[in-house]
Amino acid sequence: MSPGMQIVNATGTLGLLTDQGVIDVAQASDGLFSPDVQAVYQRWEEFRAWAATAADKAFPARPLGDVKLGSPVPRPSQVFAIGLNYHDHAEEAGLDTSLDSMVVFTKFPSSITGPDAEVELPPGAVDFEAELVVVMGQYAHRIDAGEAWDRVAGLTVGQDLSERETQLRPPTPQFNMGKSFPGFAPLGPAVVSVDEFENPDDLAIGCALNGVTMQQSRTKLMIFPVAEIIARLSQTVTLAPGDVIFTGTPAGIGFARDPKVLLGPGDELVTSVEGIGSLRTTFRARP
Ligand code: ZN
Repeated sequence: MSPGMQIVNATGTLGLLTDQGVIDVAQASDGLFSPDVQAVYQRWEEFRAWAATAADKAFPARPLGDVKLGSPVPRPSQVFAIGLNYHDHAEEAGLDTSLDSMVVFTKFPSSITGPDAEVELPPGAVDFEAELVVVMGQYAHRIDAGEAWDRVAGLTVGQDLSERETQLRPPTPQFNMGKSFPGFAPLGPAVVSVDEFENPDDLAIGCALNGVTMQQSRTKLMIFPVAEIIARLSQTVTLAPGDVIFTGTPAGIGFARDPKVLLGPGDELVTSVEGIGSLRTTFRARP
């Protein structure tokens, strides 16, 4: 494990998370790197090299608890999300996974928020989906799965919050709209570089609602693993540094339960991925 390759959005500025706390990157690098968190993904390799040397130096650090964290990917140019990417979730949704066809939609970037957010509930049926989120570190177009992990900057935790009535209303489902209300894409707490993981394809993932476990799985159970997702997306689009990919949710969503479990005012949702950390999202009624 090489400590120090976790980055955070510390009150709107790029922070490097070390054992000592959060280092202000713009200050510590003497302006070599911008305080703009989104900009770091354009220079990810250069930043990694600098961060490797920074870990040994005694830069002033703030305790993580004193920092208000924002999304570690605040303004991606594209947000991709994969639907029905775990067999058990596809089963609970009553859909066929034998077609070798990857389901893709977007969450508009205006839905992004940080790892400790209070989200306003729109009318309808708001549900949770714990997800591993990939953050790109390089461009990718028409690449093979074997090249894919090398293009990834790191991994973070995401919630694919979904208002099911908007998502599924006839005549055609509108996933993009049902999943893009303000705050419906919490991300964080940190982006952890790929080399920090012993096996980035097998991580515990889950979420708990008001302390009760709702989803609990492992990312190795994905139908399309991360490298395959990137390779397939790249056959159509050009992925750019700082783009994010929600990789799908395992079984246990609220809408598939009997009776349904929907998010309500005052609820606390904690979403976790092994080796990254947890998002804490709370909910309030629309005034
Ligand atoms: Zn999802």
